[in-house]
Amino acid sequence: MNTVVDTKLIQALDSAHFLHPFTDFKDLNDRGARVITKAEGVYVWDSEGKRMLDAMSGLWCVNVGYGRKELADAAYQQMMALPYYNSFFQTTNVPAVQLAAKLASLAPKVGDRSFKHVFYSSSGSESNDSNVRMVRRYWDLLGQPERKVIISRNNAYHGSTMAGASLGGMSGMHAQGDLPIPNITHIEQPYYFENGKPGETAEEFGVRAAGWLEEKILAVGVDKVAAFIAEPVQGAGGVIIPPSTYWPEIQRIVDKYGILLISDEVICAFGRLGHWFGYEKFGYKPDLVTFAKGITSGYIPLGGVMVGNRVAEVLIEKGGEFNHGYTYSGHPVACAVALANIEIMEREHLVEGVRGELGAYFAKRYAELNAHPLVGAAETCGFVGGLVLVKNKQTKERFKEEDAVGMVCRAHCFNNGLIMRAVGDRMIIAPPLVMTHADIDALMDLIHMALDKTLVELKAKGLV
Ligand SMILES: *Cc1c(COP(=O)(O)O)cnc(C)c1O
Repeated sequence: MNTVVDTKLIQALDSAHFLHPFTDFKDLNDRGARVITKAEGVYVWDSEGKRMLDAMSGLWCVNVGYGRKELADAAYQQMMALPYYNSFFQTTNVPAVQLAAKLASLAPKVGDRSFKHVFYSSSGSESNDSNVRMVRRYWDLLGQPERKVIISRNNAYHGSTMAGASLGGMSGMHAQGDLPIPNITHIEQPYYFENGKPGETAEEFGVRAAGWLEEKILAVGVDKVAAFIAEPVQGAGGVIIPPSTYWPEIQRIVDKYGILLISDEVICAFGRLGHWFGYEKFGYKPDLVTFAKGITSGYIPLGGVMVGNRVAEVLIEKGGEFNHGYTYSGHPVACAVALANIEIMEREHLVEGVRGELGAYFAKRYAELNAHPLVGAAETCGFVGGLVLVKNKQTKERFKEEDAVGMVCRAHCFNNGLIMRAVGDRMIIAPPLVMTHADIDALMDLIHMALDKTLVELKAKGLV
């Protein structure tokens, strides 16, 4: 495959015709997009031949790394046998069935909750739309149609469709498009560095932060609340890792009021936290689990919802026709690639690696960043890591938004061959699960270099 391209020509066509997601179009046209042309293992290359260590796994999805011939072969073979057929009219296809059964076998039973059923979509956003539909249908069927309110959290990310963006807690997204849609409301996120009180331990804060859910349930009215939705670890919001006390207290509260719990694991499932599903890491009991991204390592779009027995039994036994679904629900090619992807993860013990020695090594090396003068707190959970850039380590004084420190640091990362993402003043990573010890060492050298260069630039600007 020819990966040599005329960068200027592609950039000009890009500006002329391609409106990018989450992008200031005019600003991008002025600079020209970076053209990514090939990838192998944990590295990507741009059209100028520059190699970059992709510490974001694309966009949290390329869990098995790039260049996996097996996944391409699975897609090819399935396309030749049956590239597409719908599953609307009492028909099914083999990969969709096999994948559903496989997912059911991978999702651990917790307490009285088990997962035998899957509802497919093609993305995380669509899956969360499906969640809203299923949750409301569930309460309707139980004769409690007034239970419609879904509680989420500020700074959560649940996708970009009308329902996904409404469930999400991104004020910038709400501001464009009259969101949230009715009957979705938010509580504060469990971000200890920002919301912890002086003298309060992380564990004390975790219980207090979970308490905001109970306050909200009581404020809305217990008989109006349908569900609570949350990511195990908030990803796009900046890798916000909750204190250990948070999830057990959330579980106590949802149980007390009988509301459904939706775990949005579009990032956290498929090994990201060292388990097949993120709820295992924290030991809670969701009723619905959203997945996408890592299920195919991003090689082809696929998403869906693991539907727990509590919801599935009602939808199946009392439901009649469920008036919802997608042309590509259970797409045979996407499901075939997902099966091959899971096979790779099992054969190479990638999930165990993140949970075991490799993950521990990553955590240890990443924690060393806490010694850097710009770092307020650096934390990991499995194979996600986040750090907050601070003006003053001792007082925890933060930079101003207009200082755009994250963007300064991100530019130094790119320029030195590292893809690390900036979210405000947080720098975050989610490296491929196939990272070796040597890759982790290379990653840490690059992060240190970027932080050092950022410090020099901020000093020159008089910001530190
Ligand atoms: C990425 C993401 C989504 C949205 O997925 P898309 O495939 O982009 O629609 C939803 N929830 C979480 C937690 C995500 O990280």
